[in-house]
Amino acid sequence: MVALAQVHRRSTTPVRVGTVTIGGGAPVVVQSMTNTDTSDLDATCRQVIELAQAGSEIVRVTVNDEPAARAVPRLRERLDLLGHSVPLVGDFHYNGHRLLAAVPELGASLAKLRINPGNVGFGDKRDRQFEAMIEAALVAGRPVRIGVNWGSLDQALAARLMDENASSPVPESADFVLREALVRSALESAAHAERMGLGADRIVISAKVSRVPDLIAVYRELARRSTYALHLGLTEAGMGSKGIAASAAALSVLLTDGIGDTIRCSLTPRPGESRTTEVRVCQEILQSLGLRSFAPEVAACPGCGRTTSTFFQELALRIETYLARQMPVWRASYPGIEGLKVAVMGCIVNGPGESKHADIGISLPGTGESPVAPVFIDGAKATTLRGEHIAEEFQALVERYVEERFGERPAA
Ligand code: SF4
Repeated sequence: MVALAQVHRRSTTPVRVGTVTIGGGAPVVVQSMTNTDTSDLDATCRQVIELAQAGSEIVRVTVNDEPAARAVPRLRERLDLLGHSVPLVGDFHYNGHRLLAAVPELGASLAKLRINPGNVGFGDKRDRQFEAMIEAALVAGRPVRIGVNWGSLDQALAARLMDENASSPVPESADFVLREALVRSALESAAHAERMGLGADRIVISAKVSRVPDLIAVYRELARRSTYALHLGLTEAGMGSKGIAASAAALSVLLTDGIGDTIRCSLTPRPGESRTTEVRVCQEILQSLGLRSFAPEVAACPGCGRTTSTFFQELALRIETYLARQMPVWRASYPGIEGLKVAVMGCIVNGPGESKHADIGISLPGTGESPVAPVFIDGAKATTLRGEHIAEEFQALVERYVEERFGERPAA
């Protein structure tokens, strides 16, 4: 049964997904999913590229009907022609067995197939249809994600475990039993796939729920009972700050435990909001935990009654925007630039201390302080800025620091 004990687990079986490796000690992979109609080739291609350029290392697309299934091989071709090798994953529910049979080139055009054992079929069709999809993965030489989900849990398995629990002398709560059903559905389906010849190096597992404590309990149990590569994420994380906070809370606990090989934040975009927000949130979670570096960090204090002007907020935003704008070019010219740390602080209380911890930091004058802004570089005070042009001068100092520290050094 699902326990809450902490589990430390780093080593998983690596799974090759196109050009990317999930698990086996590889860096945690960021992935995302399109929300276009997959059969709309132009819109889907545009969004896949947008997600890949934002940093999504794998992109999943819905394969829900025959037009979508026929579009995927063309999508792959078009992406290749445009120079985008980002691996595509096909998301199948209910009719994947039929679509994979109807479009023989579909399996090979995908880097991975996502199969949901909870809705692959019912009754005696369930095993046959699950096997047909695993067979298609075997023929195409592709891995699968066995992705179970709280909202589409295998009802027969859940009912059986509920009955067993009801006749137990010490019955557990219904939530406890449902968590166990999720874990068993994933692991039994993976074992079924392995019996058919799909190696553990071709299997990724996920078991998504929408409540943070349940997700943590379920994944700790999956990690305790298996060495499959694990895909983490809340299902239906939600919109805005709620979705971001819930995803960060759940994923941080698990990743800190050493659990999880690839992540997705299933955020609901606000109308008109770019789908790439979910990619940025994944990157920020991994970077905050010190697991990967994607972009320079700007540490800015929150401000308080000691900062009655908005100058330091404007400077923090200016520096953050400047760094983001420079990154596409800097990434190519300045190896290691992702690890840069900049501080923009509002007053003398924490300003000098925090600035010394950064690679380059500025401590602005708070209300009533003398109007000078000391700048610290590599932990030591380097200069003091004053006057009207502090922002421009600090930006120039950042630029010079980047050039000197990360630029190409002449051979000795
Ligand atoms: S560093 Fe100064 S301005 Fe910023 S939050 Fe702390 S006390 Fe307030």
